[in-house]
Amino acid sequence: MQKHNFHTHTRYSDGHDTPRQMIEEAVSRGFTALGFSDHSYAWFESYYSMSPEGTQRCFREIRALAEEYRGVIDVWCGIELDGESGIPTLDYDYILAAVHEIVRRGESRPIDSGEELQRKLVQDLFGGSFIDFTKVYFENLTEHVMRNKTDIVAHVDLPTKYSLCPEEDPRYRDAAREAVREIVKHCPLFELNTGAIARGLRTVPYPTPFLLDEIRAAGGSLIINSDCHYRAKLTCWFDEAEDYLTAHGFTRHDNQRLNGRISGVTIWR
Ligand SMILES: [Zn+2]
Ligand SMILES: [Zn+2]
Repeated sequence: MQKHNFHTHTRYSDGHDTPRQMIEEAVSRGFTALGFSDHSYAWFESYYSMSPEGTQRCFREIRALAEEYRGVIDVWCGIELDGESGIPTLDYDYILAAVHEIVRRGESRPIDSGEELQRKLVQDLFGGSFIDFTKVYFENLTEHVMRNKTDIVAHVDLPTKYSLCPEEDPRYRDAAREAVREIVKHCPLFELNTGAIARGLRTVPYPTPFLLDEIRAAGGSLIINSDCHYRAKLTCWFDEAEDYLTAHGFTRHDNQRLNGRISGVTIWR
């Protein structure tokens, strides 16, 4: 099993543990690296986002912990950057690109904060059309990675979280494939995200198999992340994820570079 996770939340956003508790958990599991990625502050000030002041404290605390644990584990300070957040002002080690909200007429609606809220979003903003909703989602995600220099694409097919989207519909598939082909040009590393499995919402990770095929065909690669909100779930579905990627034609490559700063990472291509 790979010995790192680059999608980790703490109490600074919507995680349940402190950064130190997460690091201790990672050390106890023999990890070589742990990357923190709390949710960026955004103007819509959601329950899951960091506050402006928390953003500063989080960054300082993780930098101090990285020093403290030097030689034990590599601790990296990243961020899960929402498409509505703008360019970060802090010197993050890496950036995860994510879109969690759809904005219309100055109002923001969450995509993944509950099944009922997603239904209401689609009803109110798209007249009930999940096709139109997912098209806008993929457009927003594509614009996000084109606009900001990001290192990993988070949960690329997030709208499918509650199994409400018509994943078999060719119109959905075309929009998703087209987005992947464009995104790969700007940010070729996608995560295989097991977070919704940890929360009992899905039985398969993001991205779904047809998108894995598209990523591979477009020359993209994958990193396994647990989108961890509870330290007990830090390696949820990691072994299965390796089998899943192998079954879909990917090969494991150790000691790879994530970006100009981070090396020694396991990547699948
Ligand atoms: Zn996310
Ligand atoms: Zn996350």
